[in-house]
This record gives sequence, C-alpha cells and structure tokens, in this order.
Amino acid sequence: MSRVYNFSAGPAALPEAVLKQAQEELLDWHGTGMSVMEMSHRGKAFMRIAEEAEADLRELMEIPDDYKVLFLQGGASTQFAMVPLNLMGRTGRADYINTGSWSKKAIAEGGRYGEVKVIADTAADFTVPDADSLEISPDAAYLHYTPNETIQGVEFPYVPESGEVPLVADMSSTILSRPVEVSKFGVIYAGAQKNVGPAGLTLVIVREDLIGHAPESCPAMLNYQIHADAGSMYNTPPTYAWYLAGLVFKWLKAQGGLEVMAVINERKAEALYAAIDESDFYHNPVDPKCRSWMNVPFTLADPALDGLFLEEAAKAGLETLKGHRSVGGMRASIYNAMPEAGVQALIDFMKEFERRHG
Ligand SMILES: *Cc1c(COP(=O)(O)O)cnc(C)c1O
Repeated sequence: MSRVYNFSAGPAALPEAVLKQAQEELLDWHGTGMSVMEMSHRGKAFMRIAEEAEADLRELMEIPDDYKVLFLQGGASTQFAMVPLNLMGRTGRADYINTGSWSKKAIAEGGRYGEVKVIADTAADFTVPDADSLEISPDAAYLHYTPNETIQGVEFPYVPESGEVPLVADMSSTILSRPVEVSKFGVIYAGAQKNVGPAGLTLVIVREDLIGHAPESCPAMLNYQIHADAGSMYNTPPTYAWYLAGLVFKWLKAQGGLEVMAVINERKAEALYAAIDESDFYHNPVDPKCRSWMNVPFTLADPALDGLFLEEAAKAGLETLKGHRSVGGMRASIYNAMPEAGVQALIDFMKEFERRHG
C-alpha cells in the first residue's frame, strides 16, 4: 500500500493517524463488539461519541455557551436555504457579499426566501472588498459571506463588522484552519468534507437567539429549532461521519489546537505562494492581501502543458491537482491534513517540472 499526497478540494485528505485509528476500531469499537456504523444513534456508546465530539469542538473553537452546535446532513448547500428559512423572517431581507462561486450559489438560494441585497461584489476580481467599504443595511436580517472561496482561492483577511446585524459565514473550506472569535458570528456553517471529516456531515454553530424564527411552513428537517431541541437526533444523524469528525477533533487537540494549526497552515501557504511568485512559469491570480491558506490555484505559462503537469505529478505521488473548470490550471488544496512534507514535495516537483519544460 502506498499513500499519495492528495490535494483534492473536497472530499479531501484526512489525517493518516485518524484513518489508522478508525481502521483499528472498525470491527469493535472500545469492546462493544460492533462497528460505530452499526450502532444505534440513541445507544450509550454512540451518545458518548457524539457528546465527546461536540465537547472537543467547543474546546477547540472556544464556542460560547449561548451557541448550539448542530451535526446535520445536506452539506453547505442545504445551509444556503436553511439560513434564510430560519433567519430571514425577522425583516424579510438580507445582505450578501459576493466573492466567488460559493457566494453566488448562496445568494441565488437566499433570493428564494426574501429580498437579497448584494452589498459588495468582487467575484470577478479574485479579491475581497475593503473592510471599511461595506455598507450594511440596518434592516438586514443577516449579512452572509464566504470567508474562504474554495474555487477562487480567495480568503478574507478580516471578519466583517456587522454591528447588530447577525453575521453568517460559510466556513466550509476554512473552519478549524485557524482560531476564530465565534462570538462575532450569528451562524457558522461548514460541510465536513474539506477540513473536518468525511462527506455527509454538516456543522452548524448558531447563536441561540437566532433559533426559533422559522415560519410554520418550514420543513422540520430544515428547522434549526427542531434539530437543536433534539440534540441533532431528530432523525438518524450521519453517525459514522460524526464519529470520524470526533477523531479529527482529538487529532487537532493533540497537534496543539487551532493556534498551532494556524502557524503550520500559514507556513505551508507561504512556501507555496513564494515558489509560485518567484517563477515566471507559474502564476496565482489572487490579490496578495487575500490569498487563501487552504486552496491555492495556479496556472502554467503554457496551458498546453497542463495535461503533462498532471500526469507527471501523479507519477510523483501528487494527486488531484487539476483546477476547477471555472478558473483553469491547477489547484492545490492544503487543508489541515496536508503535511508540510506534502507541500514541499509539490514545490520540489513544480521546480523540477519548470526546469525541464519551462
Ligand atoms: C464545498 C463548498 C460548498 C458546498 O458544500 P456541499 O457540502 O457540497 O453542499 C459550499 N461552500 C463552500 C465554501 C464550499 O467549499
């Protein structure tokens, strides 16, 4: 068996230590004689797994007590609808910032439930708006933004100041990559398959006063109140993904927590951007002030070499580097689980490829 360095944007690489632990526990979790996959979600064993995962996440992110943590399904895409369904009702309108592909989808979905105002739009420019240029509508039920645009590789270097207006963040591709001050947010949500665990689990961290405002017509499965009241067990939750996310939380704690991860993630990203910037052969399109630590798109001077680059990279054990079709070129996703050695292997390969083909 040989493992590759997997630069997939999502589902993405998981820490090898976590996969090994899951393997060890696969047939018999802690002497229960059964796999976590086979357990009742209401049984004692799984309840312990679920509670520990939540406690570990709360500790890692320092989530205040007046926030609920929900372990849901449906991906971040379902949150594009759940957020307006649960929050928009207060005023019937909401503000959005458009910085790229995922913002756009959130905006389109939000528009089904009320009046949506795009207060800043930098989606075509690989940048983010200046913090002091944001004019938030006083009657907005919330301000939605995407702290990290997974496809464009654009990451906010600041948290927007939204005052009394609740701030909603799609943190799918940046959650747990660095510390955040949760109290600045009304809702944080994230599909798990980038930086948390396997696909199938969606994390929602929501301030309690924002729960309970969905209309009567809101489907039960889309109502934060119902999931919060049921401890995320209104129906069968994605038990195995929840368990695996719990192992990732413990792994993050063992690494030293989010402050340590931030140092490592910044170092990984800086090394890769430096390699791109010091060459005329590779190019990153993103405004340097808001380059993502997690997703690094880059193009080759000659796009005719793209196929060869991918082929030779794969031979060198560097997988899933093809860029999103909307940006072209390559994209290296370097989430928490990507070791520094993986980034260095990519940099070495890029230099060698340029030497031979540049
Ligand atoms: C991947 C991603 C999504 C979509 O997530 P799903 O879980 O597939 O619905 C939404 N927003 C961002 C920022 C993403 O990276």
